[in-house]
Amino acid sequence: MARIAFIGLGNMGGPMAANLVKAGHEVLGFDLAAPVLKAAEASGVKPASHASQAVKDAEIVITMLPQGRHVLTAWTDILQTAAQDTLVIDCSTIDVDSSRKAHEMAKAASCLSLDAPVSGGTGGATAGTLTFMAGGSDEAFARAKPILEAMGKKIVHCGEAGAGQAAKICNNMILGISMVGVCEAFVLAEKLGLSHQALFDVASTSSGQCWAINTYCPVPGPVPTSPANNGYKPGFAAALMLKDLRLSQEAALASGASTPMGAEAAQLFALFEKQGNGGRDFSAIIEMFREKP
Ligand code: NAD
Repeated sequence: MARIAFIGLGNMGGPMAANLVKAGHEVLGFDLAAPVLKAAEASGVKPASHASQAVKDAEIVITMLPQGRHVLTAWTDILQTAAQDTLVIDCSTIDVDSSRKAHEMAKAASCLSLDAPVSGGTGGATAGTLTFMAGGSDEAFARAKPILEAMGKKIVHCGEAGAGQAAKICNNMILGISMVGVCEAFVLAEKLGLSHQALFDVASTSSGQCWAINTYCPVPGPVPTSPANNGYKPGFAAALMLKDLRLSQEAALASGASTPMGAEAAQLFALFEKQGNGGRDFSAIIEMFREKP
């Protein structure tokens, strides 16, 4: 069993660290927010007073933080304390450039590094069923895999440094675009007098099928577990979808990729958030299309 430092114990990091404890690892945790750290302590995480205290003597360090700037700040602290050959894994969803910068910092400190963002949300974090998309060397991936398996059910090595973040934002750009398309189709069906169930029965088994309709249907009824049946309580908050779409657009600009539908989806979710809906599930964007004249 490994000695693991876990930095960032919020909505995702808290349950992920708890699963590492359940798997028998010794987990030292740190979070800037005292109540968050206290909650993690209740699940068996040993609280540290500073990131460097958690990292000292750790074989593996995991970060789960909001954005690239938080990761770069935390990794600067971590790499000052971490012993050579420590494996540092970032599970946050951040921009590809910051991720690659973090890998370079780790290399300069003679540490191994992996970007390993996740999909599966807080439900997957709690159940230990996350999907990890990893970027980094074969050696870093091989060392990380058994640790990630305590928190997830699917671990994919996507390529070199930053490849995990690239896979994550490409996947979520598809999701943002397809959810908008599915919502538009349901609103059109309503105008045409077609029932939700009829559209679902046809599209979910025809060429229109996709995760946004088959698993996460944005209207109540056809898929009883989707947030539409629960007042659009997230699930996956619209603010997080907007964050990921913006990351995809930054990456598209930097790389010269043409992503007009991704750009449109980012604008629509920005408008939806501006209307005060950032904390609602992202599938609630269907209401914005109903309001349009
Ligand atoms: P969160 O805000 O609940 O948790 C982040 C935690 O990091 C906070 O508790 C904060 O106090 C702490 N923090 C910030 N800077 C710190 C520092 N320098 N040192 C120590 N602690 C620090 O966010 P979350 O929902 O857990 O998301 C974390 C990451 O996971 C984000 O990048 C997010 O995009 C990604 N993600 C979230 C979900 C989801 O459904 N919530 C799903 C997939 C991916």
